Amino acid sequence: MTQKADFLFTNALLLTMDRDLHQYDPGAVAVQGDFILAAGPESEIKNEFLSTEIIDCGRKVLMPGLVNAHTHVPMTLLRGLADDLRLDVWLMGYMLPVEREFVSPEFVRLGTLLACAEQIRSGVTTFNDMYYFEGDVAQATADAGLRAVCGQTVMKYPAPDAPAYEDSLARAREFIRTWKDHSLVLPSVAPHAPYSCTPEILQAAASLAMEFDVPLHIHISETAFEVDNMRKENGMPVVPYIKKQGLLEAKVIAAHCVHIDSGEMRTLLHANAGVAHNPSSNLKLASGFAPVQKMLDLGLSVGIGTDGPASNNDLDMFEEVRLASFIAKASSNDPTVLPAAMALLMATRMGAQALHLGHLTGSIEAGKRADLILVHTSPAHNTPRFRRDPNNAYAQLVYAAKSTDVTDVMVNGKWLMRDHKLLTLNETELVEQAREIARKVDQFLIEREKSVLSKLIALGGSMEQESFEVQVKVKVEEPNRLIQKIKQPGIEVQAFKHYHQYDDYFMFDDPTQGRLRFREDNLINERGEVESVRSRLTLLGLKREGEIGHDVLLSRSRFLAPAVHTARFYREYFKPVREVSIEKDRLRWHIRYKGTDFFVNLDHMKKPDMGHFLEVKSRTWSRKDADHKADLVNELLDILDVGRAETVTQDYIEILSESG
Ligand SMILES: [Zn+2]
Repeated sequence: MTQKADFLFTNALLLTMDRDLHQYDPGAVAVQGDFILAAGPESEIKNEFLSTEIIDCGRKVLMPGLVNAHTHVPMTLLRGLADDLRLDVWLMGYMLPVEREFVSPEFVRLGTLLACAEQIRSGVTTFNDMYYFEGDVAQATADAGLRAVCGQTVMKYPAPDAPAYEDSLARAREFIRTWKDHSLVLPSVAPHAPYSCTPEILQAAASLAMEFDVPLHIHISETAFEVDNMRKENGMPVVPYIKKQGLLEAKVIAAHCVHIDSGEMRTLLHANAGVAHNPSSNLKLASGFAPVQKMLDLGLSVGIGTDGPASNNDLDMFEEVRLASFIAKASSNDPTVLPAAMALLMATRMGAQALHLGHLTGSIEAGKRADLILVHTSPAHNTPRFRRDPNNAYAQLVYAAKSTDVTDVMVNGKWLMRDHKLLTLNETELVEQAREIARKVDQFLIEREKSVLSKLIALGGSMEQESFEVQVKVKVEEPNRLIQKIKQPGIEVQAFKHYHQYDDYFMFDDPTQGRLRFREDNLINERGEVESVRSRLTLLGLKREGEIGHDVLLSRSRFLAPAVHTARFYREYFKPVREVSIEKDRLRWHIRYKGTDFFVNLDHMKKPDMGHFLEVKSRTWSRKDADHKADLVNELLDILDVGRAETVTQDYIEILSESG
């Protein structure tokens, strides 16, 4: 009895990647509709099945399509935008500002189509995505004909597709509801990472994933910094923390897991979570070496992913598989670790399992969807072929084959590429449109890089403000005498504080840009201990706005914002040509004199050692007000008996440059 099939693949070196890693040479596969009827030795399959569509594979490798276990496909449009930077500068300084400006449903659709073209060409048939406007990612993916888990991003920051996380959650719910029964796209919710989400977001995302029984996609322990912070803030590493938020009740796909210990691996295993290992991204961003062999030994399902094309910078899974194997060997000093067959398994059947799609794809077995590829293994770089050991076939694919050796791709029983020709996408058009987006992004960044102020604003989440101050600074020889003088009648002390301050001044080639001051204020309590620490960023106008009354100065501060990043971040982001660091002890009185408020600062300059300075300041809004305050400042200098200002400067930088 012969049975009819839509397609009959014959004359192939068939690598099934099934449980027993069956290979057949020559092997054959029968496909009906969207699924595989049978796979096995050619003689058997030819006896059992008949088809009008016989595909003679010409001795090529016939294998399951590759599974890209973690990516952000629309970021193809940002490929090569900013490289060789630390993760925070790359993300907060470039990716997020550009995304806020450009990411739209159209952007996401184009980026996804471009990524699909690249992935089809390199033999990827399934990918796991996380991005914004995920409904548009899903639509473009379905149009291209690829299989994907599409994760709608949720995080605590405003996103290109949602002003607040409540909106992202609502968007995720609607997206999942719309796509949950699709034949190619499995919708999911993607809380970006534990550090970019609140406990409420994590809990809500978990219950949403459970309500619809869909995966939950999240970045976990990508950097040591993330783990250190988690320990500091919550007294535990990342995996116990997400467990505490109920995340592991859902079908989790944990991307990265670079810095997790064996206890955390066991927790993930018990939760049946999948892991996505991203070799190129971890290497490029110097995130560390994921303990892949340990995870595999414990029995975790570990897939391999490219991560986004802005941090890789491509979606080439052949390269990832090879790197996964090489890194595991090099980092463990053991060349027997992660052999070729295991690496390829991670990129196929195990990768599908990690995405909770193991029942559908990842191997060539009866009943699974027809997601398969043909790989040419006779080009010069991939010749000859040995047959003595079944592992030779895997080694040939993992260590020598290139993604360009993929000639044909079928997903869900439909051809997406035949003999290197894409059938569902117009590649030329996509490349042209991507060029146009790149031109606009370049223009945006060129404009932004023109000034320190616009670079500051681009970081977002900051406060823009212009303020003027009447101020004077005087060298003080007898600080204790001055402290006594402040206590005289006529000066009402409203408040007193003691700070230890560390200032980093960033200077730029063009002096009209002003100077950027990163200040860390340590508030000192009565016992002389640090009570609290805060950091602020101020862009100081360099030009004196005017000198009024005697030696009193009107100065301008153009921008004031809480510093949410480290001084190191701002240094790498702004790339100052010169930097000056100052350390001082500051006694700060908020006083009222003749009904007007002033701040009186007595600074003891520690680094460089410059003695004591008195600073008297008051905010002002009009020229008339400034003149009045300037008179009061001079009266104050008289009654404090510090003499007239010899050096009137805006800040210590000028004193330093004047004194050489
Ligand atoms: Zn990622």
